[in-house]
Amino acid sequence: MFRKVPVNMPKRDELKRYLRQPIVDVPDTTGEYSNYAERNEKKMEKDMPLLGIFPEYIYQSKKYRNCDYAEEIKMAMDKKGMIREHLNKFRKEPLDKDWYPVSVFCEKCNTDATKVKEHNGYNVTYTCKCGHEDTFDIREKGIIKLLWRVDWPMRWYYEKVDFESGGKDHFAAGGSFDTCKDIVKFVYNYEPPSAARYEWIKIKGGQQFSSSAGVATTVSDVMEIYEPEIIRWLFAGSRPATEFSIAFDEEVIKLYEDFDHVERVYYGEDKVTDKEKKKQSRIYELSVVDKPRHRIPYQPSFRHLTNVVQMYDMNIDKAVAYYEKDLEDDFDKERLRLRAMCAKNWIEKYAPDNYKFKIQKNIPVDLVIDKKIKKIFSKLAVRLKEKTWSDKDLHGEFYVLCESEGVKHKDFFKAAYKILINKEQGPKLASFILMLGERAIELFREASR
Ligand SMILES: [Zn+2]
Repeated sequence: MFRKVPVNMPKRDELKRYLRQPIVDVPDTTGEYSNYAERNEKKMEKDMPLLGIFPEYIYQSKKYRNCDYAEEIKMAMDKKGMIREHLNKFRKEPLDKDWYPVSVFCEKCNTDATKVKEHNGYNVTYTCKCGHEDTFDIREKGIIKLLWRVDWPMRWYYEKVDFESGGKDHFAAGGSFDTCKDIVKFVYNYEPPSAARYEWIKIKGGQQFSSSAGVATTVSDVMEIYEPEIIRWLFAGSRPATEFSIAFDEEVIKLYEDFDHVERVYYGEDKVTDKEKKKQSRIYELSVVDKPRHRIPYQPSFRHLTNVVQMYDMNIDKAVAYYEKDLEDDFDKERLRLRAMCAKNWIEKYAPDNYKFKIQKNIPVDLVIDKKIKKIFSKLAVRLKEKTWSDKDLHGEFYVLCESEGVKHKDFFKAAYKILINKEQGPKLASFILMLGERAIELFREASR
């Protein structure tokens, strides 16, 4: 039932007319889907196969409208007194004697502002706020549905459910799982399913969930910045009843690093205790979308990728080409491309400012560089050409050069970042310069003039 008009939808006045109507009858005012329910369903359904999950979907609205549950609805109405007494045990305000465990959508105004007066076998008589009154056969008209705490156990019985999971809110003492467990026994004579309780999943640094605003972090949002196996790993690596976060802030980098470590443990490249290896390997097997491949996939560092994509002005093809020589096959290339896309999306949508930069074409016009520092850049431009540097050696060289000119390290670093990206700080300097290669050398030459 449509309870509230979400703030993020267009044509809100039009939507207001559909309050209290079935969600499948509410239009999708963006025009993308055939109705509002589908808008929310299809978005998620399209992402599931990418995560290697292939559910069989059962649409409640179709089954109710098709009168598939007529028998089960009658069973609940016949035992409504028992259900009411049971629910009253958990309520401060007891339910009225004439309470029914169903809601009916009026045939005239299509809302559930109705009241069931009585039922006789399959015949139900109701009145509506709009003045409409009618008696109908629930096997012929699918305009009736069970209330939540009866609907859930009914479906366990109808679909022969033997395992059910849900968020912890459903599993509080006297919460819906507790009451449904009893209702399924005495209304449907069915053993309740065994259950798993989930903790909340927190969203760190992303769009906070707000049901009233109609905004939430969706699977698509997460898939924009994480590879499918990392999303699976976040779940597989946490116990169901422990809380964990899906990060959108700078912790994204750490999660990528942690996942890469688990992958290296699986392939024997990172050594851990036997017990830990067994545990992490099982988690890894559950995380990969298909089966683990015969050798370790290429692992481009996410942090490094965020720099490389920016170095190439967000051009993914160029970023992929940068790593070309390290790739062994198409599988490696695919992972790299996907990870590069994720890095690009993260930089564009969520990364803190200190991760973002733009390589300068020329040094900033207003930049004043001290004579001594100019000399360092002149020397550095030459030194960079002399040999193939490692990050570590180049980092050491900065200190040698600073000492030879009597320049404070921090003044040199600040100037270097100003020259390269017109900011006072940025990615780790040595590896950054090596990544930029000729472009950095050109800028240092210009700065030393
Ligand atoms: Zn009505």
